[in-house]
Amino acid sequence: MRLTALACSALVLLSACAKKEAHGDAALGDSHGDPHAAPQGDAHGAKTEAVAHWTYEGKEGPEHWAAMGGDNAACGAGHRQSPIDIAGKTPQKAAKIQFAYHSSTATIQNNGHTVVVAPADAGGVILDSTVYTLKQFHFHSPSEHAINGQRTALETHFVHQNEHGDLLVIGVMSDIGNADPMLASLWTYLPTDPGQPLPLNDILINAQDLMPGTEDFYVYAGSLTTPPCSEGVTWMVFSSPLSVSAEQADAFSRLVGPNSRPLQARNERDFLHISGGA
Ligand SMILES: [Zn+2]
Repeated sequence: MRLTALACSALVLLSACAKKEAHGDAALGDSHGDPHAAPQGDAHGAKTEAVAHWTYEGKEGPEHWAAMGGDNAACGAGHRQSPIDIAGKTPQKAAKIQFAYHSSTATIQNNGHTVVVAPADAGGVILDSTVYTLKQFHFHSPSEHAINGQRTALETHFVHQNEHGDLLVIGVMSDIGNADPMLASLWTYLPTDPGQPLPLNDILINAQDLMPGTEDFYVYAGSLTTPPCSEGVTWMVFSSPLSVSAEQADAFSRLVGPNSRPLQARNERDFLHISGGA
């Protein structure tokens, strides 16, 4: 149990560091918060036209996000930005991570930047007695994070929030391979055009079905990967990928891809390799 205690304090340290960031809560209290990275409540609060226009390439691409004004300065000036290349030696820790997801109804939305699935009541994860509730998940193609320099075809971001408003995002990478059966049913609902959230009729969502069966993660302190790039986000990226078929990856890319922010400088940040086990 000593290892567990150590790892938990390591996790607490990471979040504690993150909470000190000036922009830690920007994504939550700010109606200009990114509608795809911020929890669902914000997505509903901000009308599409009220959100600063940004893209993944050209004059409104990632290298210009910081210049858009408003709260977007962190996109350029931040030192704890995401995504990063997770490479090199990592301290290995054990931690108690409890997955407490359950099946829920949900909505699906093409917001022009990604496709967001927002469950009504899907549970969450418990880390060191702190409950993080799943708010929404969405997709990036190609993946945003890299592991040892390698990006994958798709990355799913599960955005969680605790009672203090701190964000924890779980990243799941997917390589090209066998089709993902859960995505197969979800993809039949992909909205072809940007618009309001639509109910996912006849399907219940359980986030666990879209995650690897392992409890092996990289954990680090980072940011939202879209404007306003707010820091204070705890990232947990699964170390092993799932697979999607080329057709599944293409179906998403055709709608909104490519939608990945370039890799950011790791700077002085550490990350931990966490092996779970309840
Ligand atoms: Zn994301």
